[in-house]
Amino acid sequence: MHPFEYAAPETLEDALALLHEHRDEAKVLAGGQSLVPLLNYRLARPRVVVDINGLPLDGVRADDGRLRLGALVRHHQLEESDTIARHCPVLREAARLIGNVRVRTLGTLGGSLAHADPAAELPAVMTALDARLTVASASGRRSIAARDFVTGPLTTALAPDEIVTEVEVSTSPARGFAVEEFARRAGDFGLVVVVALVRVDRGGRVADARLALGGVADRPVRAAAAEEALRGQEPTAAVLAGAAEIARDRLDPPSDAFASGPYRRLLAGVLGRRALARAVAGAIQSEGAEAR
Ligand SMILES: Cc1cc2nc3c(=O)[nH]c(=O)nc-3n(C[C@H](O)[C@H](O)[C@H](O)COP(=O)(O)OP(=O)(O)OC[C@H]3O[C@@H](n4cnc5c(N)ncnc54)[C@H](O)[C@@H]3O)c2cc1C
Repeated sequence: MHPFEYAAPETLEDALALLHEHRDEAKVLAGGQSLVPLLNYRLARPRVVVDINGLPLDGVRADDGRLRLGALVRHHQLEESDTIARHCPVLREAARLIGNVRVRTLGTLGGSLAHADPAAELPAVMTALDARLTVASASGRRSIAARDFVTGPLTTALAPDEIVTEVEVSTSPARGFAVEEFARRAGDFGLVVVVALVRVDRGGRVADARLALGGVADRPVRAAAAEEALRGQEPTAAVLAGAAEIARDRLDPPSDAFASGPYRRLLAGVLGRRALARAVAGAIQSEGAEAR
């Protein structure tokens, strides 16, 4: 590693003051699962590393139809917390797909969003959930919609002196969900990840559908046309396959060392169909349970 100064502030104010002072020359350290490799390869050469692990940012609170998650909530908490499972179970399903046990033990929600890997599960899930991020700097706080937060590969709307402090999602009633991905090996980032959230009405028609994809562009994308095509429809296999095709046909994924663009596009269609089918099945089941 390139040498750097290490600071472990105990309050958010102290951490923000350090970032304000050092701006571009400082880096926040959370779980270290992405930053430490970057430091090891000297792809990041900060003069100061600000370790935020001592800050009280690991809370999980559910009230007023909202679930609020501190930025330091670890991936394993997303997997294991009863509160999260009760109010937003799609987060548990997504977290289980991340890396391996070591990565999930240390890696954090805020770190995953701030790192903004285009194929990461949590940015795609937060895009589907219409989550909002609270970010703080020495001059105040602001709220950013998840879909505006990632601005390119490994690039976000965060200013160098800002810290993500909290992520807020609505705790949706009677919604089916599914996260589908295809990775070359267990524990790898998925080549493509698809998140589907579906709500059906009493008559079994689609009341609301959300489809978000990762690994198909420089940031997570919402398949708005597919969502629109599903609204009000009876979710037959043909309708779901049609919606997945609409989503797929609007994509132009990049090629890289792991997969070609056309292959990613094909995966998006197949995984989209599977995710929608599973989410619809869950939605019908939970709508039935609610009606009883
Ligand atoms: C072997 C391996 C496999 C992995 N597989 C997957 C996978 O399948 N899916 C997946 O999504 N991820 C995967 N990851 C990445 C993992 O999820 C990381 O935990 C995550 O990307 C970054 O979280 P972190 O807390 O470790 O952040 P760090 O590594 O500490 O930081 C990452 C970046 O975010 C910034 N940052 C961190 N927290 C904040 C904050 N609160 N506010 C502002 N900036 C912040 C840092 O400055 C840095 O730029 C893998 C990692 C490894 C090592």
